[in-house]
Amino acid sequence: MDKALFETEISVLTQAQATLAATELDKAQYLHALAELTHHYQRLMREMHRLIRHSDRTEAELNTVNTKLQELSAELQYKARHDPLTGALNRGAVFEQAQTHLSAAPMSLIMLDIDHFKRINDTFGHPTGDAVIQELIERLRTAVGKHGDIGRVGGEEFTILLPNMSLDQSSQLAEYIRHLLANQPFDCIATEYTVTASFGISWSPFKTDFEHAYARADAALYRAKQQGRNQVVSAANPDQLTAPHA
Ligand code: GH3
Ligand code: MG
Ligand code: MG
Repeated sequence: MDKALFETEISVLTQAQATLAATELDKAQYLHALAELTHHYQRLMREMHRLIRHSDRTEAELNTVNTKLQELSAELQYKARHDPLTGALNRGAVFEQAQTHLSAAPMSLIMLDIDHFKRINDTFGHPTGDAVIQELIERLRTAVGKHGDIGRVGGEEFTILLPNMSLDQSSQLAEYIRHLLANQPFDCIATEYTVTASFGISWSPFKTDFEHAYARADAALYRAKQQGRNQVVSAANPDQLTAPHA
């Protein structure tokens, strides 16, 4: 107990105890001692109320700060994994997510790159280039739905992770997306202009390395560009079609 903090109370209590122990006091002295005790007891109660109110306020403030911290932490976690322009997974998150998928299931990877994007920037300006990227991601979201995760791995280069999807199914999906881009004018480009993209696809058995899946899709995409762009090229399935540990 902090003696200095309760100095007054200790002195009042000592006096009251002395009064109680004394045998030859008159009524006035007892009344005086009782009045002293009552006065200090009331003061203590007021002080206690004030402390409780203060502690309630502090608790409410702490709760507010805590909620704010949790919101900021969630926001930071989101920003660490997402591309600010489109909300798609960023490069780091794509690699992390892909490895997680591959540890549990086979996976197809679609990689796509906008054709002659530099020309779009040069013709319509950088802000329109940004808008094209945003609109393209919206179209990918519509086409892919819950089947896969969309990522932005470079300026105008994107990935779609498709766990449990075969090479055939993913190339059909890529063809569908290719049409969706090439055959529907982009809202953000006022004049008539066709935006196309080239696609590279790879399929990987589960428990394999994503770096390998990425390199094969990238090589397929390179071939799609070489062969004239606006097309889908699939990498051959890896020789070993089952997991190394199976
Ligand atoms: P290719 O068909 O061979 O892919 O040609 P390309 O013009 O699309 O490719 P290149 O690599 O020559 O140019 C890509 C351009 O994308 C260059 C760069 O300025 C632009 N770019 C990269 N990131 C962004 C971005 O966030 N916004 C905009 N507007 N442009 C970007
Ligand atoms: Mg490009
Ligand atoms: Mg590129």
